[in-house]
Amino acid sequence: MSQKLDVAVLGATGTVGQRFIQLLAAHPWFRVAEVAASDRSAGKRYAEATRWVLPGEPPTEIANLTVLPLDAAFKSPIVMSALPGDVAKTLEPTLAAAGHLVSSNTSANRMQTDVPLLLPEINADHVRLVDAQRRKGWAGALVTMSNCTIVGTVVALAPLREFGIERISLVSMQAISGSGYPGVASFDILDNVLPYIGGEEEKVETEPQKILGALTQDKIVHLETRISAACNRVPVMDGHTVCVSVGFKHKPTLAQIREAWENYQGHDLARELPSLPKPVITYSEGADRPQPRRDRDAGGGMTTTIGRLRECSLLDYKFVTLSHNTVRGAAGGAILNAELLVAQGYASHVMDTLEGAQTR
Ligand code: NAP
Repeated sequence: MSQKLDVAVLGATGTVGQRFIQLLAAHPWFRVAEVAASDRSAGKRYAEATRWVLPGEPPTEIANLTVLPLDAAFKSPIVMSALPGDVAKTLEPTLAAAGHLVSSNTSANRMQTDVPLLLPEINADHVRLVDAQRRKGWAGALVTMSNCTIVGTVVALAPLREFGIERISLVSMQAISGSGYPGVASFDILDNVLPYIGGEEEKVETEPQKILGALTQDKIVHLETRISAACNRVPVMDGHTVCVSVGFKHKPTLAQIREAWENYQGHDLARELPSLPKPVITYSEGADRPQPRRDRDAGGGMTTTIGRLRECSLLDYKFVTLSHNTVRGAAGGAILNAELLVAQGYASHVMDTLEGAQTR
């Protein structure tokens, strides 16, 4: 791509918004042109409005951007959303209808029937749901990233679909950054585990069926499987660890599972995308791995690390997965989804529709 496409980051001052700024700083196709946040931040310089929690400082060209309010007339063809769900619920479809390619992190619109819930290495073909959005008159598109906790589990299960995934039981150990900034009070999380995260288990128990489902015509037929989740917040900065037990219709051998993971290249349509996890999966042989501090940055934070595959006395097998919640589970994932939209030709229409849409 000879010219970069302009991107607006909504919720740019928050935990995920900052990851967007960091990851887009050196992106080969995209450049951040607009940042937006709440009325608290609007009108200020980005550096002044933001409590930067990542290493170093925000890039100078972004630090000096003025934060826009959410009702600004955005010019960027691509919009990355890291807004709270209640704010995103109506704004994201409105921007998509007006001609923007909206790549969202929020849960608000994930389960709408014509909104793709994408992990491109697994289900890049689901992007075709955008055609249904175009048929109802949207000039742009809305695609969504999944809940961050479920990423490692669905990536691990995707290569095993041929064995018939019947039942899943999982227990999560979720990082503090998953609750945003300032997130959980230090008084509650230090020296402690919180065995409840509002709304999390419902998302974890319902999103995988759509992600691992099959595209037929203009809808997704959900995978028929039952999931029971117990979600916990633990005193880890980044990286969600999940202990998974799974029961199959046709029980594979341990060797077949390892082979399926080792050979998994991801979906054909995603192979050339710049942010595709390389590799999609790493299996760690260590008896005490994966661990967040040691494994969350695998593949630049985009690779899922799996370990401890063994027989389960209740279901068939159990294992542990780890993925970086603000990279693969949020900003990096939404960037990958936007790359898929562009690679599949959905941006050309947008450039024709949006007055003043920019490439540089
Ligand atoms: P956060 O740190 O609390 O940041 C929230 C952002 O939204 C800030 O930029 C904030 O702006 C802005 N905002 C809040 N209320 C607003 C309003 N009424 N109008 C306009 N902007 C508003 O949260 P986060 O962790 O980045 O999460 C953002 C979204 O991503 C959420 O939907 C979350 O569920 C989802 N998500 C998070 C993670 C994760 O690991 N953290 C992973 C996956 C998905 P101000 O700074 O101006 O207040």
